[in-house]
Amino acid sequence: MSGEPRRHRVQLAVIGSGLAGCAAALFALERGLTTAQVGHSGALAYTSGHLDLLGVLDGRVVDDPWSALGELQRRQPGHPLARIAPETVRHAFHRFTAALSSLGIGYTTPGDRNLRAPTPAGTVKPTLSLPCTMAAGVTAARERSATLVVDFAGLEGFSARQLVANLGPRWPGLRCTRLDFPGMEDGGVLYPEAMARALEVPATRERLAGRIRAVLEGASCVGLPAILGIHRPDRVHRALQRALGATLFEVPTMPPGVAGIRLQEAFEQALPARGLTLVSRQKVTRLQLGKEEATLQLHDSYGPLEIHAGAVLLATGRFLSGGLVADRDGIREPLLDLPVQQPPGRDAWHRDDYLAPEGHPVNGAGIRCDRWLRPLNPDGRVVHPRLFAAGILLAGQDWVRQRCGAGVAIATAFAAVQAAARHLGPGDGDSTPNPG
Ligand SMILES: Cc1cc2nc3c(=O)[nH]c(=O)nc-3n(C[C@H](O)[C@H](O)[C@H](O)COP(=O)(O)OP(=O)(O)OC[C@H]3O[C@@H](n4cnc5c(N)ncnc54)[C@H](O)[C@@H]3O)c2cc1C
Repeated sequence: MSGEPRRHRVQLAVIGSGLAGCAAALFALERGLTTAQVGHSGALAYTSGHLDLLGVLDGRVVDDPWSALGELQRRQPGHPLARIAPETVRHAFHRFTAALSSLGIGYTTPGDRNLRAPTPAGTVKPTLSLPCTMAAGVTAARERSATLVVDFAGLEGFSARQLVANLGPRWPGLRCTRLDFPGMEDGGVLYPEAMARALEVPATRERLAGRIRAVLEGASCVGLPAILGIHRPDRVHRALQRALGATLFEVPTMPPGVAGIRLQEAFEQALPARGLTLVSRQKVTRLQLGKEEATLQLHDSYGPLEIHAGAVLLATGRFLSGGLVADRDGIREPLLDLPVQQPPGRDAWHRDDYLAPEGHPVNGAGIRCDRWLRPLNPDGRVVHPRLFAAGILLAGQDWVRQRCGAGVAIATAFAAVQAAARHLGPGDGDSTPNPG
C-alpha cells in the first residue's frame, strides 16, 4: 500500500514493546508526556512474571540486592544498574509494580531482600517482586509447608514431578499429582493461555477445585502452573483458593507463559486509554534524527505511517528481538547503525569453557550510553541529543547470568524517560531523584 503517510506528533516516541518499552511508555504517560509506542509485543510473553532486580553477582546468589547494587558500582561501573542511583532504582520499581497492581495484576511490593521463588525447573530463584498469585509459593518453600503441586495431562513445559524431584529433598512435605483439566480431557496438547481463559469461568473453577480437593490428603498449600486467568488473575486466584480451602500459588511455566501474556494484554488495553498512541505488532523501518524533531517511519495494515517526536527512546532488546544483529563482521544495531560496544572479533565472543562462571564477553555487548542514557559514539560524544536508550539493548550487563532482566529494563526506562523529559523542557513537574 502507498500514498500520503498518516502522521502523529508526540513529545516522546518509544521503540520497542518489551518490558523496557512498556515501562517507558507507562512512566512517560505518568509524567504527562504525549507518547507513542511502536513494537512487536511478543517479547513480553517471554517473561516469567518475576521481576528480578539483581539476583546473582560474581557467581554468588544475592540476598540483599540494594547493597549488591553498591558492590556492582565498585566492580562493574559500566553496568547500566551501576549508573543509576539506588534510590531511583527503588522508586522506579515501586512505581512500576504499583502501576501493574492498578492495572489489575497485583504485584508484591518490592522489599529490602530478594524473595526465593519456585521455578518450573524445580529450583528457587532470587527475585525482587512477583505476581501476588505466585507469592504464597515463596512462603510455602521457605516454611516447607505440606504442599501438593498439580500438573495436567497434555500440558507441556510444566512437570510437577520434576519440581518435586528437585525440591523434594529439601522440602519433605512436597508431593505431586497429575489431573485432567476440566473440559480439556480429550488427550490433546493443552496450552496455558487457553487454560487460563477457561479458569475465568466460575463453573470451570468449581470443577477443578473438586478434582484437587479429592487428592489434597491434608496438604495445606496447592501449587499450580501459572494458569489463573488472564484478566484480573487475583480474582481468579481468590475464588479458586476459597473453593479449595487451601493456600494456592502459581509457578511460572516455560515461556511463552500466561504471566507475560497478562502484562501484554493489560498494557495494550490500559495505556491507549491513558492517551498512548500505540502501534502494536509493527517495526519501525527508518528513524531520522533531525535538528527540529525525530521522525519514525513504518507501515501498518492501513499504509505508511510517520511519527514525529521531540525525543526517541530506543528499547529494541538484543538478538532475540532484533535490537542487535550478529553477522560475520560483528554485532550491529540495525535501525541507526549505532556504535555497538563489543569484543574485538568473533574469536573473542565466547570463552573456551561453555560454562565459564564469569560468562561470555558477547553477552556484555550493546549500546554504550552516558549517565542520561544517551547513546555514545566511540569518541564519547553523544550520538544525538534527541536519542535515549533503555533495556537489555544496553552494553555492560549480562542479564541472564546476573538475573537482572527486569531490573535493567525498569530502572533504565525510568531514568531514560526522566532524561528525555529534561531534554523536552519545562512543564514536567516530577521531582523524583536524578539517575546518578
Ligand atoms: C525466556 C525468557 C525468560 C525471562 N525471564 C525473566 C525473569 O524471570 N525475570 C526477569 O526479570 N526477566 C526475565 N526475562 C527478561 C525480560 O523478559 C526482558 O527480556 C528484559 O527485561 C528486557 O526487556 P527489553 O524490553 O529491554 O527487551 P525485549 O524484551 O527484547 O523487547 C524488545 C522489543 O523491541 C522490539 N523491536 C525491536 N526492533 C524494533 C523496531 N525496529 N521497531 C519496533 N520495535 C522493535 C521487539 O519487537 C520487542 O518488542 C526473561 C526473558 C526471556 C527471553
